[in-house]
Amino acid sequence: MKTPFVTKDQLEAIAAQYPTPFHIYDEQGIRENARRLRKAFAWNPGYREYFAVKAAPTPALLKLLHEEGCGCDCSSMTELIISERCGITGENIMFSSNDTPAEEFQMADRLGAIINLDDLTLVDYLERSIGHVPEKICCRYNPGGVFTLGETREGFQVMDNPGDAKYGMTRAQIAEAFTRLSAMGAKEFGIHAFLASNTLSNDYYPALARILFQLAAELKAETGVHITFINLSGGVGIPYRPEQPANDIAVIGEGVRRAYEEVLVPAGMGDVALYTELGRFMTGPYGHLVTRAIHEKHIYKEYIGVDACACNLMRPAMYGSYHHITVMGKEDQLCDHKYDIAGSLCENNDKFAVDRMLPKIDMGDLLVIHDTGAHGFSMGYNYNGKLRSAELLLKEDGSVELIRRAETPEDYFRTLVW
Ligand SMILES: *Cc1c(COP(=O)(O)O)cnc(C)c1O
Repeated sequence: MKTPFVTKDQLEAIAAQYPTPFHIYDEQGIRENARRLRKAFAWNPGYREYFAVKAAPTPALLKLLHEEGCGCDCSSMTELIISERCGITGENIMFSSNDTPAEEFQMADRLGAIINLDDLTLVDYLERSIGHVPEKICCRYNPGGVFTLGETREGFQVMDNPGDAKYGMTRAQIAEAFTRLSAMGAKEFGIHAFLASNTLSNDYYPALARILFQLAAELKAETGVHITFINLSGGVGIPYRPEQPANDIAVIGEGVRRAYEEVLVPAGMGDVALYTELGRFMTGPYGHLVTRAIHEKHIYKEYIGVDACACNLMRPAMYGSYHHITVMGKEDQLCDHKYDIAGSLCENNDKFAVDRMLPKIDMGDLLVIHDTGAHGFSMGYNYNGKLRSAELLLKEDGSVELIRRAETPEDYFRTLVW
Protein backbone atom coordinates (compact mmCIF):
# COMPACT_ATOMS: atom_id res chain seq x y z
CA MET A 1 0.00 0.00 0.00
CA LYS A 2 1.22 3.47 -0.85
CA THR A 3 0.15 6.28 1.43
CA PRO A 4 0.25 9.91 0.31
CA PHE A 5 2.30 12.27 2.48
CA VAL A 6 -0.66 14.67 2.61
CA THR A 7 -4.22 14.14 3.76
CA LYS A 8 -7.34 14.91 1.79
CA ASP A 9 -8.16 17.88 4.04
CA GLN A 10 -4.65 19.25 3.64
CA LEU A 11 -4.88 18.88 -0.14
CA GLU A 12 -8.31 20.51 -0.36
CA ALA A 13 -6.96 23.49 1.57
CA ILE A 14 -3.88 23.67 -0.66
CA ALA A 15 -5.96 23.32 -3.84
CA ALA A 16 -8.15 26.21 -2.71
CA GLN A 17 -5.06 28.42 -2.93
CA TYR A 18 -3.19 26.74 -5.79
CA PRO A 19 -5.51 25.24 -8.40
CA THR A 20 -4.85 21.71 -9.63
CA PRO A 21 -2.87 20.28 -11.28
CA PHE A 22 0.33 20.81 -9.30
CA HIS A 23 3.34 18.89 -8.11
CA ILE A 24 3.97 18.88 -4.38
CA TYR A 25 7.15 17.71 -2.64
CA ASP A 26 7.74 16.50 0.90
CA GLU A 27 10.66 18.34 2.53
CA GLN A 28 10.85 15.99 5.49
CA GLY A 29 10.88 12.89 3.30
CA ILE A 30 13.64 14.30 1.08
CA ARG A 31 15.79 15.34 4.05
CA GLU A 32 15.42 12.06 5.92
CA ASN A 33 16.24 10.04 2.80
CA ALA A 34 19.32 12.18 2.06
CA ARG A 35 20.50 11.59 5.64
CA ARG A 36 20.05 7.83 5.28
CA LEU A 37 22.14 7.93 2.10
CA ARG A 38 24.88 9.95 3.78
CA LYS A 39 24.96 7.61 6.72
CA ALA A 40 25.17 4.57 4.45
CA PHE A 41 28.37 5.92 2.89
CA ALA A 42 29.81 7.64 5.96
CA TRP A 43 32.55 4.95 6.09
CA ASN A 44 34.08 6.59 3.00
CA PRO A 45 35.62 9.91 4.07
CA GLY A 46 35.45 11.57 0.64
CA TYR A 47 31.92 10.44 -0.15
CA ARG A 48 29.60 12.90 -1.85
CA GLU A 49 26.20 12.70 -3.57
CA TYR A 50 25.78 14.91 -6.62
CA PHE A 51 22.03 15.17 -7.10
CA ALA A 52 21.10 14.64 -10.77
CA VAL A 53 19.60 18.06 -11.49
CA LYS A 54 17.61 16.79 -14.49
CA ALA A 55 15.42 14.78 -12.10
CA ALA A 56 14.02 17.91 -10.40
CA PRO A 57 15.65 21.16 -11.55
CA THR A 58 13.97 23.41 -9.00
CA PRO A 59 16.15 25.72 -6.87
CA ALA A 60 14.26 25.12 -3.60
CA LEU A 61 14.93 21.39 -3.93
CA LEU A 62 18.57 21.82 -4.98
CA LYS A 63 19.20 24.11 -2.01
CA LEU A 64 17.46 21.78 0.40
CA LEU A 65 19.59 18.88 -0.84
CA HIS A 66 22.70 21.07 -0.69
CA GLU A 67 21.94 21.69 2.99
CA GLU A 68 22.03 17.91 3.37
CA GLY A 69 25.50 17.79 1.82
CA CYS A 70 24.62 17.12 -1.82
CA GLY A 71 26.22 18.78 -4.79
CA CYS A 72 24.73 19.02 -8.29
CA ASP A 73 25.20 16.68 -11.23
CA CYS A 74 24.63 18.85 -14.31
CA SER A 75 24.51 17.93 -17.96
CA SER A 76 23.61 21.11 -19.81
CA MET A 77 24.25 24.86 -19.85
CA THR A 78 20.96 25.67 -18.16
CA GLU A 79 21.52 23.11 -15.42
CA LEU A 80 24.95 24.64 -14.80
CA ILE A 81 23.37 28.09 -14.54
CA ILE A 82 20.68 26.84 -12.13
CA SER A 83 23.38 25.32 -9.96
CA GLU A 84 25.44 28.53 -10.01
CA ARG A 85 22.39 30.62 -9.09
CA CYS A 86 21.76 28.32 -6.14
CA GLY A 87 25.28 29.10 -4.96
CA ILE A 88 26.43 25.56 -5.72
CA THR A 89 29.73 25.85 -7.59
CA GLY A 90 33.29 24.48 -7.77
CA GLU A 91 33.75 20.83 -6.90
CA ASN A 92 30.15 20.76 -5.70
CA ILE A 93 29.29 20.36 -9.38
CA MET A 94 29.87 17.22 -11.40
CA PHE A 95 29.42 17.94 -15.09
CA SER A 96 28.38 14.58 -16.59
CA SER A 97 27.20 15.31 -20.10
CA ASN A 98 27.55 13.78 -23.53
CA ASP A 99 27.69 15.24 -27.05
CA THR A 100 28.86 18.35 -25.22
CA PRO A 101 29.12 21.77 -26.92
CA ALA A 102 32.31 23.78 -26.31
CA GLU A 103 30.50 26.57 -24.47
CA GLU A 104 29.21 24.10 -21.88
CA PHE A 105 32.74 22.88 -21.17
CA GLN A 106 33.76 26.55 -20.85
CA MET A 107 30.96 27.25 -18.40
CA ALA A 108 31.71 24.12 -16.37
CA ASP A 109 35.39 25.08 -16.26
CA ARG A 110 34.58 28.66 -15.25
CA LEU A 111 32.48 27.31 -12.35
CA GLY A 112 35.29 24.96 -11.31
CA ALA A 113 33.10 21.88 -11.84
CA ILE A 114 34.54 18.39 -12.10
CA ILE A 115 34.25 17.48 -15.77
CA ASN A 116 33.29 13.93 -16.73
CA LEU A 117 34.34 13.10 -20.30
CA ASP A 118 31.94 10.87 -22.20
CA ASP A 119 34.26 10.04 -25.09
CA LEU A 120 37.91 9.76 -26.09
CA THR A 121 37.51 12.42 -28.79
CA LEU A 122 36.48 14.88 -26.08
CA VAL A 123 40.02 14.88 -24.64
CA ASP A 124 41.28 17.07 -27.47
CA TYR A 125 37.93 18.83 -27.82
CA LEU A 126 38.00 19.83 -24.17
CA GLU A 127 41.54 21.16 -24.42
CA ARG A 128 40.63 23.18 -27.51
CA SER A 129 37.45 24.44 -25.82
CA ILE A 130 38.93 25.65 -22.55
CA GLY A 131 42.61 26.04 -23.47
CA HIS A 132 43.90 23.46 -21.01
CA VAL A 133 43.11 20.17 -19.33
CA PRO A 134 41.82 20.45 -15.73
CA GLU A 135 43.93 18.92 -12.97
CA LYS A 136 40.96 16.87 -11.77
CA ILE A 137 39.12 14.97 -14.47
CA CYS A 138 36.72 12.06 -14.81
CA CYS A 139 36.08 9.62 -17.67
CA ARG A 140 32.93 7.64 -18.31
CA TYR A 141 33.28 3.92 -18.93
CA ASN A 142 30.97 1.67 -20.95
CA PRO A 143 31.75 -2.05 -20.63
CA GLY A 144 29.46 -2.92 -23.59
CA GLY A 145 27.48 -6.13 -23.77
CA VAL A 146 24.55 -6.84 -21.50
CA PHE A 147 24.57 -6.19 -17.77
CA THR A 148 22.61 -8.68 -15.68
CA LEU A 149 22.27 -9.31 -11.99
CA GLY A 150 20.66 -11.94 -9.82
CA GLU A 151 18.76 -14.48 -11.92
CA THR A 152 15.39 -15.40 -10.46
CA ARG A 153 12.61 -17.64 -11.74
CA GLU A 154 10.97 -14.62 -13.38
CA GLY A 155 14.20 -13.63 -15.15
CA PHE A 156 16.94 -11.28 -14.12
CA GLN A 157 16.52 -8.97 -11.17
CA VAL A 158 18.40 -6.30 -13.11
CA MET A 159 19.04 -6.30 -16.83
CA ASP A 160 20.24 -3.49 -19.04
CA ASN A 161 22.06 -3.09 -22.27
CA PRO A 162 25.25 -0.97 -22.06
CA GLY A 163 26.29 -2.26 -25.51
CA ASP A 164 23.35 -0.35 -27.01
CA ALA A 165 23.90 2.81 -24.96
CA LYS A 166 25.51 5.87 -26.53
CA TYR A 167 27.45 6.74 -23.38
CA GLY A 168 30.99 6.23 -22.26
CA MET A 169 34.29 4.87 -23.56
CA THR A 170 35.43 1.34 -24.26
CA ARG A 171 37.99 -0.31 -22.02
CA ALA A 172 40.84 0.45 -24.44
CA GLN A 173 39.68 4.05 -24.90
CA ILE A 174 39.51 4.87 -21.21
CA ALA A 175 43.11 3.68 -20.76
CA GLU A 176 44.19 5.83 -23.71
CA ALA A 177 42.21 8.82 -22.38
CA PHE A 178 43.93 8.54 -18.98
CA THR A 179 47.39 8.30 -20.54
CA ARG A 180 46.79 11.29 -22.79
CA LEU A 181 45.12 13.42 -20.12
CA SER A 182 48.02 12.67 -17.82
CA ALA A 183 50.52 13.78 -20.47
CA MET A 184 48.44 16.96 -20.92
CA GLY A 185 48.68 17.83 -17.23
CA ALA A 186 45.79 16.12 -15.43
CA LYS A 187 46.74 14.99 -11.92
CA GLU A 188 43.63 13.48 -10.31
CA PHE A 189 41.50 10.95 -12.12
CA GLY A 190 38.02 9.57 -11.66
CA ILE A 191 35.98 6.79 -13.26
CA HIS A 192 32.24 6.93 -13.88
CA ALA A 193 29.74 4.41 -15.24
CA PHE A 194 25.95 4.08 -15.44
CA LEU A 195 25.01 0.51 -16.29
CA ALA A 196 21.34 0.13 -15.37
CA SER A 197 18.44 2.44 -14.68
CA ASN A 198 15.86 2.29 -11.86
CA THR A 199 17.29 -0.87 -10.33
CA LEU A 200 15.31 -2.49 -7.54
CA SER A 201 18.10 -4.50 -6.01
CA ASN A 202 20.50 -3.89 -3.16
CA ASP A 203 23.12 -5.62 -5.32
CA TYR A 204 23.32 -3.14 -8.22
CA TYR A 205 25.65 -0.58 -6.67
CA PRO A 206 27.91 -3.23 -5.08
CA ALA A 207 28.17 -5.08 -8.43
CA LEU A 208 28.88 -1.84 -10.31
CA ALA A 209 31.37 -0.81 -7.64
CA ARG A 210 33.23 -4.11 -7.98
CA ILE A 211 33.54 -3.60 -11.77
CA LEU A 212 34.76 -0.03 -11.37
CA PHE A 213 37.12 -0.83 -8.48
CA GLN A 214 38.69 -3.64 -10.51
CA LEU A 215 39.00 -1.32 -13.50
CA ALA A 216 40.55 1.37 -11.30
CA ALA A 217 43.18 -1.04 -10.01
CA GLU A 218 43.99 -2.14 -13.57
CA LEU A 219 44.13 1.40 -14.94
CA LYS A 220 46.38 2.49 -12.10
CA ALA A 221 48.79 -0.36 -12.93
CA GLU A 222 48.59 0.22 -16.70
CA THR A 223 48.75 4.00 -16.86
CA GLY A 224 50.30 4.99 -13.55
CA VAL A 225 47.74 7.77 -13.01
CA HIS A 226 46.46 8.77 -9.57
CA ILE A 227 42.81 7.73 -9.31
CA THR A 228 41.24 9.72 -6.50
CA PHE A 229 37.52 9.16 -6.99
CA ILE A 230 34.99 6.73 -8.42
CA ASN A 231 31.54 7.89 -9.44
CA LEU A 232 28.82 5.25 -9.20
CA SER A 233 26.41 7.54 -11.03
CA GLY A 234 22.63 7.04 -10.77
CA GLY A 235 20.42 4.04 -11.22
CA VAL A 236 19.35 3.12 -7.69
CA GLY A 237 15.63 2.80 -8.17
CA ILE A 238 12.38 3.22 -6.32
CA PRO A 239 9.33 0.93 -6.08
CA TYR A 240 6.69 2.50 -8.32
CA ARG A 241 4.36 -0.41 -7.66
CA PRO A 242 2.99 -0.93 -4.16
CA GLU A 243 3.99 -4.61 -4.11
CA GLN A 244 7.64 -3.93 -4.98
CA PRO A 245 10.14 -3.90 -2.12
CA ALA A 246 12.16 -0.71 -1.69
CA ASN A 247 15.95 -0.70 -1.81
CA ASP A 248 17.67 -0.51 1.55
CA ILE A 249 20.37 2.13 1.21
CA ALA A 250 22.16 0.96 4.37
CA VAL A 251 22.52 -2.53 2.85
CA ILE A 252 23.68 -0.98 -0.43
CA GLY A 253 26.31 1.14 1.34
CA GLU A 254 27.53 -1.91 3.22
CA GLY A 255 27.74 -3.94 -0.01
CA VAL A 256 29.84 -1.22 -1.63
CA ARG A 257 32.07 -1.06 1.47
CA ARG A 258 32.73 -4.80 1.21
CA ALA A 259 33.74 -4.45 -2.47
CA TYR A 260 35.96 -1.52 -1.50
CA GLU A 261 37.70 -3.55 1.23
CA GLU A 262 38.12 -6.55 -1.05
CA VAL A 263 39.28 -4.84 -4.24
CA LEU A 264 40.50 -1.29 -3.70
CA VAL A 265 42.23 -1.58 -0.34
CA PRO A 266 44.44 -4.54 -1.40
CA ALA A 267 45.36 -2.54 -4.54
CA GLY A 268 46.73 0.20 -2.29
CA MET A 269 43.79 2.46 -3.21
CA GLY A 270 42.14 2.81 0.18
CA ASP A 271 42.03 6.61 -0.19
CA VAL A 272 39.65 6.70 -3.16
CA ALA A 273 36.55 8.87 -2.63
CA LEU A 274 33.19 7.61 -3.79
CA TYR A 275 30.66 9.81 -5.51
CA THR A 276 27.06 9.10 -6.48
CA GLU A 277 24.76 10.95 -8.87
CA LEU A 278 21.36 9.78 -7.77
CA GLY A 279 18.24 11.48 -9.05
CA ARG A 280 15.20 9.23 -8.82
CA PHE A 281 16.20 7.79 -5.45
CA MET A 282 16.63 11.26 -3.93
CA THR A 283 13.30 12.85 -4.78
CA GLY A 284 11.12 10.36 -6.70
CA PRO A 285 8.96 9.04 -3.84
CA TYR A 286 8.68 12.49 -2.24
CA GLY A 287 6.66 14.09 -5.01
CA HIS A 288 2.99 13.80 -5.92
CA LEU A 289 1.18 15.08 -8.98
CA VAL A 290 -2.19 16.24 -7.67
CA THR A 291 -5.06 16.40 -10.12
CA ARG A 292 -8.84 16.53 -10.05
CA ALA A 293 -11.40 14.34 -11.81
CA ILE A 294 -13.38 16.62 -14.11
CA HIS A 295 -15.13 14.23 -16.52
CA GLU A 296 -16.33 10.68 -16.77
CA LYS A 297 -16.95 8.98 -20.05
CA HIS A 298 -18.62 5.65 -20.72
CA ILE A 299 -17.90 4.26 -24.17
CA TYR A 300 -16.13 0.98 -24.92
CA LYS A 301 -14.16 1.55 -21.75
CA GLU A 302 -14.70 3.60 -18.63
CA TYR A 303 -12.70 6.83 -18.64
CA ILE A 304 -12.00 9.39 -15.98
CA GLY A 305 -10.77 12.70 -17.38
CA VAL A 306 -8.49 14.64 -15.07
CA ASP A 307 -7.12 18.17 -15.25
CA ALA A 308 -3.49 17.00 -15.56
CA CYS A 309 -2.06 15.47 -18.71
CA ALA A 310 1.12 13.84 -20.00
CA CYS A 311 2.69 17.33 -20.23
CA ASN A 312 2.76 17.25 -16.41
CA LEU A 313 4.08 13.68 -16.19
CA MET A 314 5.38 12.03 -19.30
CA ARG A 315 6.56 8.68 -17.97
CA PRO A 316 3.34 6.68 -18.43
CA ALA A 317 2.90 7.97 -22.01
CA MET A 318 6.56 7.64 -22.93
CA TYR A 319 7.56 4.38 -21.25
CA GLY A 320 4.23 2.87 -20.23
CA SER A 321 5.42 3.36 -16.65
CA TYR A 322 3.22 2.48 -13.73
CA HIS A 323 2.45 5.29 -11.31
CA HIS A 324 0.28 4.42 -8.36
CA ILE A 325 -2.89 6.47 -7.90
CA THR A 326 -4.72 7.24 -4.67
CA VAL A 327 -8.25 8.61 -4.82
CA MET A 328 -8.16 10.95 -1.84
CA GLY A 329 -10.62 10.18 0.93
CA LYS A 330 -11.37 6.75 -0.56
CA GLU A 331 -8.26 4.94 0.64
CA ASP A 332 -10.33 2.35 2.48
CA GLN A 333 -12.86 1.72 -0.25
CA LEU A 334 -12.93 -1.33 -2.43
CA CYS A 335 -11.07 -1.02 -5.78
CA ASP A 336 -13.98 -2.41 -7.76
CA HIS A 337 -14.03 -0.02 -10.75
CA LYS A 338 -11.81 -0.41 -13.78
CA TYR A 339 -10.75 2.89 -15.30
CA ASP A 340 -8.47 4.51 -17.81
CA ILE A 341 -7.33 7.78 -16.23
CA ALA A 342 -6.82 10.21 -19.09
CA GLY A 343 -5.67 13.75 -19.73
CA SER A 344 -6.92 16.05 -22.47
CA LEU A 345 -4.07 15.88 -25.00
CA CYS A 346 -4.96 14.96 -28.55
CA GLU A 347 -2.86 11.81 -28.13
CA ASN A 348 -4.29 8.46 -27.14
CA ASN A 349 -1.22 7.68 -25.03
CA ASP A 350 -2.19 10.53 -22.70
CA LYS A 351 -3.25 8.15 -19.95
CA PHE A 352 -1.91 8.00 -16.41
CA ALA A 353 -3.36 4.53 -15.98
CA VAL A 354 -4.95 1.89 -18.19
CA ASP A 355 -7.41 -0.70 -16.84
CA ARG A 356 -6.63 0.37 -13.29
CA MET A 357 -8.80 -0.96 -10.49
CA LEU A 358 -9.78 1.96 -8.27
CA PRO A 359 -12.62 2.95 -5.96
CA LYS A 360 -15.57 4.62 -7.66
CA ILE A 361 -14.42 8.08 -8.70
CA ASP A 362 -16.79 11.02 -8.45
CA MET A 363 -16.39 14.30 -10.25
CA GLY A 364 -14.31 16.68 -8.17
CA ASP A 365 -12.35 13.92 -6.44
CA LEU A 366 -8.69 14.68 -5.88
CA LEU A 367 -6.27 12.11 -7.24
CA VAL A 368 -2.70 11.76 -6.05
CA ILE A 369 -0.36 10.31 -8.66
CA HIS A 370 2.58 8.92 -6.71
CA ASP A 371 6.35 9.01 -7.21
CA THR A 372 6.50 12.07 -9.42
CA GLY A 373 9.32 13.77 -7.50
CA ALA A 374 11.93 12.81 -10.09
CA HIS A 375 11.65 12.86 -13.88
CA GLY A 376 8.12 14.20 -13.37
CA PHE A 377 7.77 17.97 -13.70
CA SER A 378 11.22 18.08 -15.28
CA MET A 379 10.16 16.05 -18.32
CA GLY A 380 7.22 18.39 -18.88
CA TYR A 381 6.47 19.96 -22.23
CA ASN A 382 4.07 22.34 -23.89
CA TYR A 383 2.27 20.19 -26.46
CA ASN A 384 -1.28 21.27 -27.26
CA GLY A 385 -0.43 24.62 -25.70
CA LYS A 386 -0.46 23.02 -22.26
CA LEU A 387 1.22 25.05 -19.57
CA ARG A 388 3.59 23.80 -16.91
CA SER A 389 2.02 23.48 -13.49
CA ALA A 390 3.07 25.00 -10.22
CA GLU A 391 5.43 23.20 -7.85
CA LEU A 392 4.80 23.33 -4.12
CA LEU A 393 6.90 22.32 -1.15
CA LEU A 394 5.27 20.85 1.93
CA LYS A 395 7.62 22.15 4.61
CA GLU A 396 8.62 20.27 7.72
CA ASP A 397 6.40 22.55 9.82
CA GLY A 398 3.37 21.63 7.71
CA SER A 399 3.17 24.90 5.81
CA VAL A 400 3.19 25.00 2.01
CA GLU A 401 5.50 27.11 -0.08
CA LEU A 402 5.13 27.93 -3.76
CA ILE A 403 8.51 27.06 -5.28
CA ARG A 404 7.55 27.50 -8.93
CA ARG A 405 4.43 29.28 -10.10
CA ALA A 406 2.24 27.84 -12.82
CA GLU A 407 2.90 29.10 -16.34
CA THR A 408 0.44 31.49 -17.92
CA PRO A 409 -0.35 31.87 -21.61
CA GLU A 410 1.97 34.91 -21.60
CA ASP A 411 4.88 32.59 -20.71
CA TYR A 412 3.99 30.43 -23.69
CA PHE A 413 3.82 33.44 -26.01
CA ARG A 414 7.06 34.92 -24.79
CA THR A 415 9.29 33.27 -27.39
CA LEU A 416 6.89 33.88 -30.27
CA VAL A 417 7.63 36.50 -32.88
CA TRP A 418 4.30 37.96 -33.97
C1 LIG B 1 20.00 10.41 -15.36
C2 LIG B 1 21.37 10.40 -14.81
C3 LIG B 1 21.59 10.24 -13.44
C4 LIG B 1 20.47 10.01 -12.46
O1 LIG B 1 19.81 8.84 -12.73
P1 LIG B 1 18.66 8.31 -11.74
O2 LIG B 1 18.16 7.10 -12.43
O3 LIG B 1 17.67 9.38 -11.63
O4 LIG B 1 19.33 8.00 -10.45
C5 LIG B 1 22.89 10.29 -12.99
N1 LIG B 1 23.93 10.49 -13.83
C6 LIG B 1 23.76 10.65 -15.15
C7 LIG B 1 24.94 10.89 -16.01
C8 LIG B 1 22.49 10.59 -15.69
O5 LIG B 1 22.31 10.74 -17.00
